[in-house]
Amino acid sequence: MRRISIFGATGSVGANCVDLIQREMGSGAFQVVALTGGRNIARLAQMARDLQAQIAVTAHDDLLGQLRDALAGSGVEAAAGPAALIEAAQRPADWVLSAIVGAAGLAPGLASLRRGNILALANKESLVCAGPLLRNAAAGQSATILPVDSEHSAVFQALGGENIDSVKSVTITASGGAFRDWPLERLAAATVAEASTHPNWAMGQRITIDSASMFNKALEVIEAKELFGLRPDQIKVIVHPESIIHAMVSHIDGGTIAHMGAPDMRHAIGYALNWPNRGVLPVADLDLAALGRLTFREPDETRWPALRLAREVMQAGGMAGAVFNAAKEQALDDFIAGRMAFTDMAPRVESTLSALSAQSGFSADPHDLDTVLQWDRAARQEAAI
Ligand code: NAD
Ligand code: MG
Repeated sequence: MRRISIFGATGSVGANCVDLIQREMGSGAFQVVALTGGRNIARLAQMARDLQAQIAVTAHDDLLGQLRDALAGSGVEAAAGPAALIEAAQRPADWVLSAIVGAAGLAPGLASLRRGNILALANKESLVCAGPLLRNAAAGQSATILPVDSEHSAVFQALGGENIDSVKSVTITASGGAFRDWPLERLAAATVAEASTHPNWAMGQRITIDSASMFNKALEVIEAKELFGLRPDQIKVIVHPESIIHAMVSHIDGGTIAHMGAPDMRHAIGYALNWPNRGVLPVADLDLAALGRLTFREPDETRWPALRLAREVMQAGGMAGAVFNAAKEQALDDFIAGRMAFTDMAPRVESTLSALSAQSGFSADPHDLDTVLQWDRAARQEAAI
């Protein structure tokens, strides 16, 4: 019996994980400790009832009464607010999924690592903001961080535990998102609805828009550096419209191992859930003959300036990752709210990086949470319109 918690259970990744757990409910393999969500109280309460969770937590203090009512008679505890999220993360569990979106996932993920759990990490933002902080917390507690991002799960699997010194480079693939084939001059007028559709993956709205701008891939390049201890020049991005190969690991002996699969997050989530074993998952088999061919192209950095920014952020080090992520989150808020054009997001992130770098450099080490959160706030303020 494994005790598991899901942070961000009501989101796209979280719900896929709930689906996998639900399929095993009769087997007695899992005991669900905590499920967390945001404003969708009905969904959170239903999940908590279905999975017989110990506690359900909404991130919003003002929704506590609503959550209590929705859970009446179920035996599931109700709690609300950021402190309750941390308390839930501190409850003993064997496996915790970090699937909150944005830097808001950092504090609960860190709290759970400090208990020495397996942290299955979908929340790439926390590694971008505070990679060293998370790595140190994991090392101090003999906790394990398992990647859930599909590209990083693919790298992890292709590495197969081999020494990182035998790796020459790692290539993560990008579908190219909604605007891959749009004429460049149309991009400035791109609407939120147009940016919120993805050719291959069903995901939350924020990451879907980040796929269209390639900010998602930019975060993933930094995530790969932090997760696997790679040098920036070892991490490559290739556009692969079919999203069948998720990543490739090239070794010093000239061999390359690619990881393939249907674009379905339940593979990467289920892999982390079953690790170090493998289990049967509800993921479609690959039919390469039906696909016929796989195609690849070099990413165009005029179309996707976020990729260049990721390299500059890795070069700068220190708090640059936290600033990059926070400025991106602010610009994305402004785009979604109709205050900013799609093509103004990258320049806004770039000017925020320059402004904060000019003020005090990025020399602080992302080794304590308060410092990271201070830089996060300063970057959001600077980036806000
Ligand atoms: P989503 O928007 O669908 O869900 C986000 C979840 O976080 C929801 O449960 C929401 O209630 C909760 N949440 C939002 N703001 C919060 C806050 N301030 N405090 C606490 N909880 C909050 O997002 P998603 O697409 O499932 O993505 C989740 C994470 O996984 C992101 O970091 C994303 O980059 C990563 N990821 C997602 C996918 C995917 O297929 N969706 C793939 C790879 C990585
Ligand atoms: Mg990904």
